Amino acid sequence: MGYIDLHLHTTASDGVLRPSEIVRYAKEKGLQAIAITDHDTVDGCEEGLLEGEKIGFEVIPGIEISAEHSPGSMHILGFFLDIHHPFLNERLEYLQKARAERNPKIVEKLNRLGIDITFKEVVEASGGGQVGRPHFANVLLEKKYVRSFQEAFDRFLKKGALAYVDKFRFTSKEALHFINEAKGVAVLAHPNTLGMNGYSELEKFVHKLMGEGLKGIEVYYPEHSAVEVAQFKTLADRYGLLSTGGTDYHGMEKNGLDIGVGRGEMKLPYSIVENLKAVRNRSLSER
Ligand code: AMP
Ligand code: FE
Ligand code: FE
Ligand code: ZN
Repeated sequence: MGYIDLHLHTTASDGVLRPSEIVRYAKEKGLQAIAITDHDTVDGCEEGLLEGEKIGFEVIPGIEISAEHSPGSMHILGFFLDIHHPFLNERLEYLQKARAERNPKIVEKLNRLGIDITFKEVVEASGGGQVGRPHFANVLLEKKYVRSFQEAFDRFLKKGALAYVDKFRFTSKEALHFINEAKGVAVLAHPNTLGMNGYSELEKFVHKLMGEGLKGIEVYYPEHSAVEVAQFKTLADRYGLLSTGGTDYHGMEKNGLDIGVGRGEMKLPYSIVENLKAVRNRSLSER
């Protein structure tokens, strides 16, 4: 059996490759299956699924939702979503509307700082998909206001920086609800970004999310230390949660992480997909 990658971004959000390109790339790399998990949108899934059918490669329609949380950040993955589900799409449209209100405010803040940037330039940098802060960073870099993508975030775009504008987020309960309604399997993404204070705090938190419909934890992730992987795996096993993994590939040029392998250390067996399917079938039969 081959290897998989269950956390990938395409041009539908802030990735570099189109959905069809990422599917071909995954096949070239010898992977057996991937999930497309763009931020707050399923717009890349259809193209990815069609390409998968065309070339004979397994593509799982997914998403990565940002949920309300502090002081860190909470992302929730959804796998095997019914991407045409009306309630899911209504919730995602709401998020798009919130983004559409936020983006011009970021432009305005940058303009007030004396930076010559227009919304049109940012839209052009987005490759036609959803517009987000990484696209602002690309324009700032292109126009030489910063020397690196990271500097754009650090000086202007990250939380608390000069041109930061907060984004509407659903609560975990709301996000888990619409993922489950759309027949998706919900998994807590990269728990190391939650800013939890130790194992027992994380344990309580995960327990609460389980009550809201959480089915798994993204245990394997390039930014998790060996200690964290062991900790998250223990937690998942203890509560009968799925353990999933992925690289969060956005394009190699962004952070040096490659599909399937991350920095070379990742090797995720196909059995993870089988486990996901088993949980999905079980919850479907319980509906
Ligand atoms: P947005 O959805 O517009 O809020 O943009 C979020 C995306 O920006 C994330 O998915 C990351 O790809 C990127 N991002 C967020 N914070 C940072 C940061 N501090 N440094 C670099 N990239 C970041
Ligand atoms: Fe991203
Ligand atoms: Fe994430
Ligand atoms: Zn991601």
